[in-house]
Amino acid sequence: MSKNVFVNKDECTSCALCTDGLPQYFRMDDDDLAETHNDGENVGNAIVPDNDTAKVQEMIDDCPAECIHWK
Ligand code: SF4
Repeated sequence: MSKNVFVNKDECTSCALCTDGLPQYFRMDDDDLAETHNDGENVGNAIVPDNDTAKVQEMIDDCPAECIHWK
C-alpha cells in the first residue's frame, strides 16, 4: 500500500537534506522551503510506493526540524 508524505513548511529550516537526498519526492519552493511532489505533480501530497517508504521514513527521521510527515 502506498503512503502520502508532506512537509510542514512552517517548521522547515531550508537545510536541503531532503531535496538533495530524495529529489524525486522533495523540492524547494520559491520561498526556499521544502515541499513534496511526484515529478512536479501532487505538490504537497506526494505518493510514495511501498518500495520507497523505508527511504522516505529515514528522511523523516533525519530531518533536523522534524517537519516531514506521513498523512
Ligand atoms: S530536511 Fe526538513 S528542514 Fe531540511 S529542507 Fe527538508 S523538510 Fe526542510
